[in-house]
This record gives sequence, C-alpha cells and structure tokens, in this order.
Amino acid sequence: MHSATRLDTLGTEQAYAVLAAARRLEAAGHTVVHLEIGEPDMATPQHVVDAGIRALRDGLTRYALAAGVPELRDAIAQSLIARGVRATAENVIVAPGAKPMLFAAALALIEPGDEVLTPDPGFPIYESVVRFAGGRPVYYPLHESRAFALDVAALAERITPRSRAIIVNLPHNPTGGIATPDELARLAALAQRHDLWVISDEVYGPIRYDDAFDSIAALPGMAERTFLVDGFSKTYSMTGWRLGYGVMPAWLAEPVTRFIINNVSCTATFVQYAGLAALTGPQGAVRRMIAGLRGKRDRMVRGLGAIDGITCPVPAGTFYCFPDISGMLERTGMTCESFAERLLEEAHVAVLAGTAFGPAGTGHLRLCYATDPVQIDLALQRIRAWISSLAVASAP
Ligand code: PLP
Repeated sequence: MHSATRLDTLGTEQAYAVLAAARRLEAAGHTVVHLEIGEPDMATPQHVVDAGIRALRDGLTRYALAAGVPELRDAIAQSLIARGVRATAENVIVAPGAKPMLFAAALALIEPGDEVLTPDPGFPIYESVVRFAGGRPVYYPLHESRAFALDVAALAERITPRSRAIIVNLPHNPTGGIATPDELARLAALAQRHDLWVISDEVYGPIRYDDAFDSIAALPGMAERTFLVDGFSKTYSMTGWRLGYGVMPAWLAEPVTRFIINNVSCTATFVQYAGLAALTGPQGAVRRMIAGLRGKRDRMVRGLGAIDGITCPVPAGTFYCFPDISGMLERTGMTCESFAERLLEEAHVAVLAGTAFGPAGTGHLRLCYATDPVQIDLALQRIRAWISSLAVASAP
C-alpha cells in the first residue's frame, strides 16, 4: 500500500521536528531553552479567553456559515483600515489559521506549470503549497546587506511569461525584514505591469519596531490582484485557537468559500467570537507585547553579535533573528544543520538551521526571541560556553 504521489510534493516545517527532539531531551530530564517554535510567549488576552468561554456557554457550538460569522468578517474588514486597506465583509473569508488560507490561495490562483516567485529564505510552506498546486516556485533573494528588506529589482529579474504570482511576507519570517514604502510601490507597479497576483502574508503585520503598518493591498489598483492572508496566531497570541482569514476580490470569495465547504466546512464558531473580541476589544496587550519584544530583540541581537564568528542584523519586525554564523562554521567545520543539531544535543538550546527556510539560509540560524529575558540570557550563556568548549577541544 502507498499514498498518492501528490503528497510527495508536500514539504514540512523543521520547527516541529526540532520541537519533538527537544521534548525527548526534556523527557530524559534535561532543561531545554526553546527558541525554535515561532509563537509569542504572552498568554491570549484575558478578555479574548472570556469571550471564547462565553460563546461556548451560550451554545455557540454548532456549524457557522462557511465563509465565517458575519460579525467577525465585518470586524476584520474594519480592522484592515489600520493598514490602509479598504474592504467589506464580502472580501473576507475566515479559516482555521492563516496556513489553510495560504493553501486556499495556492489552489485558487495557480495553474499547473505556473511560476510563483517565493522568497529565499522564506516560510517553507510557500514552496510546499505552490508545488502541491502544480506550480513551480522561483526563488527571489533577500540580502543580509540590506537587513533582508524586499528588493524588487531582484524580483523583477526573475519574471518570465510563465510568472503568475508573487508571494511576499512582510515583516518576514525568518529574517524580520520589511519593505520601504518605495519598494512596496515598486512591487505594486511590477505586479500591474506583468499582470501578476500578489499573495501577501501579513501574519506579522503589526509586529514591527518602526510603528508603521502597511499593506501592498492598500496601494492603488492592488486590491483586485492581492490575496491578503492574516490571522490571530501571532498578533493576539492565539496560535492554538486556529483562526485566520483571507482578503480577496469579492468574485474570488465564492470559489474560495466552496473550497472551505469541501475542506473544513467552517471555522470553530466559538473561536470566531473570541477573534471578534480580540479585534474589537482593548489593544493594550498587543501594544505591550510589541514593546516587550523590542527589548528582547535588542538583548538577543547584542548577545549574539558579541560572539566571535557571529553577525546579526537588527530585525525590523517579527520576533525572529537570523544571525550569520558562517565565520563560526568555517572555524569548526560544521554545517548550519549540524551546528543546530549539536547545539540542541550538547547545550540544550533549540534553534532552527537557516536551511529550513531554503538554500539561501545556508550559514544562518533562526532564533525566536519571544521568550522570557531570563531564557534569552540562559541561551546566550549556553551558546557561549558550548562554543568555548569546541574551541578547547579543537586546540592543538
Ligand atoms: N505565515 C507565516 C509567515 C508564519 O510564520 C506562520 C506561522 O509560523 C503562518 C503563516 C501560520 O499562521 P497560522 O498559525 O495562522 O496558521
């Protein structure tokens, strides 16, 4: 017996494999510093939890409309004003997370043989869903020398007559890179010139340290060619609730809703009411989380940068940093994969190898700094001690 070959095209997320390895170490009695999984460390805001519980108590436990609870679709459309996007509930489809919406976008927009420009390094699920839809991912680079900011010139060079869509993720996982307003305008012009879709993954949208909040969909002529994907996981610390959405031209909402009906029927009803409370309730917890993340970012970047053989650009958004450890790898003869593996096994610090995000991640690590500063300091201390032990072991 065997599974259908189409499943062979699906890639995976390394973070889950590293988490499983870290859990094995913990089961054996070790304490592990977790910097591998990408989620905020704050609890879901209490008023959001309360709204979810209230919805359960009120019996909101039955199927919802496939496209989402009308009040939530409306609130999402309203919330988009903060990033300059004008939309109505008709443009919004709710899903159990941003990830299922990425899947829906790929299946809705990509024909077999289409080329889709995807960031390298980038969230591995993009490549996976593009291939699953029969498309061909074409990597575009993001350069460390520009703090991994979007480089539209590099993107333009890779456009061919088969190009169908561009995937952008701003702020960007794994590097924390963003785009200047000029680059965003250039991207819009490029998409229009070549008649391309933009799949804009904005799950880290408000998590940036310059207080700006923008979207390619806000630019003139872009709403009709943008499939915006967002969710509640990161901004409201709701990773386990599973709540996300897509914003698209109204004509596309109907086939995407049909896809939802075939796939998940609807998103958990009480979860949608929790999401409604998140969007319409007080935003203080989100503001405090982002303010706290800035200090954690600075602590992590400073600590890593002080280690010989590691350089770490300052990320402009998200809660990840993406240090270049190639100096260290040259000295020790390791690859970034073996470095990450040994760092976990020998020093009990869980991080991801840069190559988990594509070939351009070679020589890098991804660390999630959305954790207690005590854990950040412990991780840095363990990394430093482990590296010194390597130096001693390899001394003549
Ligand atoms: N997009 C990016 C870039 C992510 O990093 C993640 C989660 O790690 C997701 C989408 C998935 O978000 P959700 O939990 O809403 O499915």
